[in-house]
Amino acid sequence: MKTIIEPFRIKVVEPIRITTVEERRSLLERAGWNLFAIHSEDVIIDLLTDSGTSAMSADQWGAVMRGDESYAGSPSYYRFETAVRELMQFRHVIPTHQGRAAEAILFSIVGGPGRIVPSNTHFDTTRGNIEATGARAVDLVVREAHDIDARHPFKGNIDLARLEQLLEESGDSVPLVMLTVTNNAGGGQPVSLANIRATAEIAHRHGKPLVIDGCRFAENAWFIKCREPGQESRPVPDIVRDMFSVADGMTMSAKKDAFANIGGWLATNDDKLAAEARNRLILTEGFPTYGGLAGRDLEAIAIGLHEIVDEQYLRYRVRTNEYIGEKLLSLGVPIVQPVGGHAVFVDARRFLPHIPPLEYPGQSLAVALYEAGGIRACEIGTVMFGRGPDGVEKAADMDLVRLAMPRRVSTQSHADYMIEVFEEVVRGKDELRGLRIVSQPPQLRHFTARFQPIS
Ligand SMILES: *Cc1c(COP(=O)(O)O)cnc(C)c1O
Repeated sequence: MKTIIEPFRIKVVEPIRITTVEERRSLLERAGWNLFAIHSEDVIIDLLTDSGTSAMSADQWGAVMRGDESYAGSPSYYRFETAVRELMQFRHVIPTHQGRAAEAILFSIVGGPGRIVPSNTHFDTTRGNIEATGARAVDLVVREAHDIDARHPFKGNIDLARLEQLLEESGDSVPLVMLTVTNNAGGGQPVSLANIRATAEIAHRHGKPLVIDGCRFAENAWFIKCREPGQESRPVPDIVRDMFSVADGMTMSAKKDAFANIGGWLATNDDKLAAEARNRLILTEGFPTYGGLAGRDLEAIAIGLHEIVDEQYLRYRVRTNEYIGEKLLSLGVPIVQPVGGHAVFVDARRFLPHIPPLEYPGQSLAVALYEAGGIRACEIGTVMFGRGPDGVEKAADMDLVRLAMPRRVSTQSHADYMIEVFEEVVRGKDELRGLRIVSQPPQLRHFTARFQPIS
């Protein structure tokens, strides 16, 4: 069959409140044209993030009831540990309340002033946790990643030559090498199995462990199956095992590719590191058989890990994004190509060339999508990155709008509705105007800044 259907049926529904354009205009005004200040009940389709927004399955909800809340030695922990180790065979699996807690524990041990941590591209919490210890986070993604139109199959790959050079010149300062799969900050682009293996080989030759930030490991494995020569007939769980078999540890947010609403873990083969990490875990998160989680959360993750490597799910997941991407391109909306595993990124700077970067074309598009159809997306551009530590404004590298797709939440008609909203925005795009910031905090301004449209 040509039609790829949602490989699930709906048992529990959450009603959507349908707002009118007039209502949304006044909600925008009240929110200072910042979509983070809009209440989610006033959003028709929420594409702000794919993190923690997955729909859990009947099996997951069933397992929630089985959750054992014993302080120590809960069977829920052992089911969680077994599920992780079926895919990622690490000796120690340490549960945390989110991915960033795993990062904080890891870098409080291996970070510190003068240290350098290379990756393809660090996610912002990873970078934040590295820099908070005084260490430096270095991004070494391949050059194609910076070219919006380059249709390279693995734009998340690390540049092996630059990694080798860094390790030769400053190896003494490098505690470990990281890889983020898929590369979230780089548009959800995958890393090839060949690149993962070559990264491990280089790291190990220099005596460094490889730690994978595995938040979207299943989407990455699916891209490997679809795009990497020789991988097309292999089961996804086998590809996942291969990805992690050359690594020495991982950090994970279960809010992504584990279908959970909360959770994460740190895993390692290093006994000494694990002992230190568990000591810190007890201080900051909890006892090692629950970390920062309830037993019921560990159960939901264990089931989610079985479901996320299902090929029918992954085919539907990635195809949905491709479908939306193709339709946007046919409307003349420029997007980052190829589309990522968890999101479609629109190139707002090119879509709205009459709005200069310092008048925030990404914010203008995000506001227009909300006004026209109640869609909430996220500006990733000059609002987010355009102010240096010195307080001076400058254009970010790109002005993108991210349409992040929650897992198993929407149907085909939601996708078609999104396209129709874009059609409406395309029709009026020449009339769209930029915005100016009327108030902003000193850091992370995109969350709380207030705007005013430029008339
Ligand atoms: C979300 C994310 C994290 C952080 O995980 P949280 O659960 O949000 O703390 C780290 N790395 C990547 C690649 C992510 O996408």
